[in-house]
This record gives sequence, C-alpha cells and structure tokens, in this order.
Amino acid sequence: MRLRVLGTAAGGGLPQWNCACPGCTRARAAGPAVWRTQECLAVSASPGDWYLVNASPDIRAQILATPELSPPPGTRRTPLRGVLLTDGELDHTAGLLALREGAALDLFAPAAVTASLAEDFPLRGLLAPYGAVRWQPLTGGLALGDGRLRVTAIPVSDKRPRYAAGSTRAGPWVVAYRFDDAVTGAAAVYAPSLARWPRGLGAALAGAGCVILDGTFWSEDEMERRTGHGPGARAMGHLPISGPGGTLARLRGRTGVRCLYTHLNNTNPAADPASCERSTLAAALVEVAADGQEIRL
Ligand SMILES: [Zn+2]
Repeated sequence: MRLRVLGTAAGGGLPQWNCACPGCTRARAAGPAVWRTQECLAVSASPGDWYLVNASPDIRAQILATPELSPPPGTRRTPLRGVLLTDGELDHTAGLLALREGAALDLFAPAAVTASLAEDFPLRGLLAPYGAVRWQPLTGGLALGDGRLRVTAIPVSDKRPRYAAGSTRAGPWVVAYRFDDAVTGAAAVYAPSLARWPRGLGAALAGAGCVILDGTFWSEDEMERRTGHGPGARAMGHLPISGPGGTLARLRGRTGVRCLYTHLNNTNPAADPASCERSTLAAALVEVAADGQEIRL
C-alpha cells in the first residue's frame, strides 16, 4: 500500500492569507518550501488506482505536484478512481469543484454529509451537470477498485460544518478510515478530524503499520494565545495533541506503528521543525507529516 500525503494544514493553510500569527509570519518569511497546503491524502493498493481522502481547495496544485496522479501520456484518463470524505468541512469538500473536468469519480461520504452536500452546501446539484462524481453509499466496509483496497469507516463525532450548524440530521458527521491491503496485509489509519477519541479507534489501530491523526492544535488554548481570540481546541472540534486527554498520550509507547500528525492549524507551534514542541514529538517517536511525503507499507 502506498500513501501520498498531499496536504497537511488545517483550513486556511500555512501561511493563511489574512493571518500574521507567529506561525504564519515565520512561514511567510521562510518562503514556499515550508508552506503547507490544506489537508488531503492519496492512497493506493493497486498500481495506477488512487483514491483521495478529502478534496482540499488546493487539490489542483496538489495533484500537479504528484507524478503518480498524472494521466498516462496521450490520454485524459486519471489514475484517480474516487474520493472518500471524512466529513463535510469546506476545506475537505471545496476541491470537488476543481475535479469537475474528470469523469465518474466514486464519492464516498457519511450519509449525513451526503445529504448536507445536497442541501446546506449544494455541491451535488452544482456538480451533477458535469457528470464528474458518482455518489456512493458509505457502508461499514468497502472493497475499492479491484477489491484489493479495503476500507473501514470509523464513526468519530457529530460535529457539523458551520454551514450546517442547525441541521438535525443524525450522524455520524465525521468518520476516520482504516485501509487494509487485502494482498499484503498492510494497514493504515487516517483520522484527520478528531473532536474526541471515539470508541472503535483503539481497535482500528491494532495491527496498523501507520496512523495519521488530527494535529490541528498543540494545546487547548492555542487560538487564544497565538491570535488573541478564539475558542478552545475542543470547541472547534479537535482534540489537542498535548495536555490531559490529548492525543499524544494515546500514541506514546506504541511500538511497531508509525505515528504522524496532519491537519496542522497555522497556530500550531509544532509546524516549526525547530520548535520545542517538535522535539517533544520526536522524543515520543511521533512525526509531523509533510506535504508530498510518501509512506509505503
Ligand atoms: Zn496564522
């Protein structure tokens, strides 16, 4: 199985266009080599068949930067077979508009998200005339393409996107995914949005060679401290990395599994490789994913 990390920032990216917090200021000064695009992953178990997890507003640049996702010479055939959404957030769905030139991508999302994308943020209706997307039911377990890539959705939370805050649709609104290679037995877990540590995630990590988790915020009060205002991390739908109940405590001491954080907010000090926070992660044998990074399992 191959994973290509296409983007590693939370909504807004790093730097964010309207922000001069310490993280954005550092990134702006350092230049594009350290910038982070908005979170997105590509996964493949069969050569030439790739699936996206989420479709970020940066998707066009992310695909162009990834040779595996280029069409074969002389064709307009994409190696992209489909898209799996973890939720309906704008930074995970707006990129679908940029994929309208393609044809017949399979689109999997939790039922609440699929319904919301027909009404609250009507992407389904907007995309229908282009025929680019086939909306597929997200069942508990899927076998994609030739059947080699097995996908299990893990319900995470009922956190709704802001545009659907008033919705009464039953959840889950957010899921994580476990990928299993039916041929090699390799497995990976991708959970870029964790409002809480859900029942079932611990079991899903068992036997996985790689886990990529929500690293939006380092600390609960990070927005307040770095920008002067803003709610806590949990109120924004993200367990912080550090502190009581943080995700790092769940990862510490795990052996035989490669652990990485993605979806970093531009306020997260761990985005800076020279930070104390990054040293803390290194000591715990936990990594911060980088744009373009490849992981083979
Ligand atoms: Zn910022």
